[in-house]
Amino acid sequence: MILIDGKKAAAELREELKKEVANLKTKHNKVPGLTVILIGDMTPSQIYVRNKEKSANEVGLKSEVIRYPNTVEEKTVLEKIKELNQDETVSGILVQLPLPKHINKQKVIETIDPLKDVDGFHPMNVGNLSSGYESSVPCTPLGCYLLIKKIEPNLSGKKAVVVGRSNLNGKPMTQLLLKENCTVTVTHSKTKDLKAECLEADIIIAAVGIPELVKGDWVKKDTIVIDVGINKTDKGIVGDVDFDEVSKNAKALTPVPGGVGPMTIACLLKNTIDCFKRSQI
Ligand code: NAP
Repeated sequence: MILIDGKKAAAELREELKKEVANLKTKHNKVPGLTVILIGDMTPSQIYVRNKEKSANEVGLKSEVIRYPNTVEEKTVLEKIKELNQDETVSGILVQLPLPKHINKQKVIETIDPLKDVDGFHPMNVGNLSSGYESSVPCTPLGCYLLIKKIEPNLSGKKAVVVGRSNLNGKPMTQLLLKENCTVTVTHSKTKDLKAECLEADIIIAAVGIPELVKGDWVKKDTIVIDVGINKTDKGIVGDVDFDEVSKNAKALTPVPGGVGPMTIACLLKNTIDCFKRSQI
């Protein structure tokens, strides 16, 4: 079984991006800039943002974090986003989720200029992705896609089963696989026989949030299994896939941690650079 090393793949991607930033600097005499808005003092969000900032600096991006207290008014945040939309030194804008309840998430997402939407959540990017046009793609499914392509460069005709249909993971993942000519089955909480669906798959992407949901006897030999889940349990952080069981059958499998997670941040950097490049055309 191939253990898909997300840490190594992310380090390789960051190395490529670092070179790309250096070339862009030579060509345009400026570097892509990422601005993150962080609201409140939730520890996981603070950790994510710190890691994003560190990785951005590592590849040579200009990076900035704008912090607001939990009590910040929605209009203050929207005004700041509009200001950043106009700022030529800002290539990508990310508002760290989740937001406090009094701030409308959709309004925030729709205020970000779609050309600076490094999370790929703006309806225009969602629409472009599902129409097969160029767009920013949400970072986690993009990371999954790049890991799958490392194992299997030609996905045409493969049967893929996406477990979970969230806007963040399952739906964009589905679109990326369709673009690669996979035959995709999207499953969710109302799916009648998830095991039977998974047993048909050449590729399984599990993005559910249920610890070790996907069992060893749900996976046929030679399946590539990508585990997006991050679940806190008594035995520590586990994914949505039963790693010990599934590793006996799968052709390739991502561990948790150290699989999809590191690729998510690397793809945020990639999206920022891609937004910069599109803005220079
Ligand atoms: P989400 O928004 O809660 O969506 C979960 C999806 O799973 C829903 O579509 C739900 O179906 C489906 N589902 C629930 N129970 C199911 C079942 N028994 N069988 C099949 N499908 C079922 O979750 P998310 O934001 O996509 O996150 C999923 C997991 O990925 C979480 O563990 C999260 O922490 C992790 N995550 C990891 C990263 C990373 O960087 N590695 C990034 C983001 C998220 P319905 O639509 O019918 O409700």
